[in-house]
Amino acid sequence: MRKLLCPQCKITGMYVKNANGERLLVYITKEGNVIPKDSAASIEGFDMTEVFCLGCSWHGSPKQLKLI
Ligand SMILES: [Zn+2]
Repeated sequence: MRKLLCPQCKITGMYVKNANGERLLVYITKEGNVIPKDSAASIEGFDMTEVFCLGCSWHGSPKQLKLI
């Protein structure tokens, strides 16, 4: 499966946050879908509209990620 990359540091590892500031590791498919790395994880309560890069300070909409 193709995954989208951080526009700054070109890694696929991202996370999302919930209201408590907890992190959930995700990746983003080339269709722009945000998928938990742990397929058993619940995404309930997590804001899937803003993703944060694990490798640098970039964050933003999953639609801004690049396919390279
Ligand atoms: Zn990055």
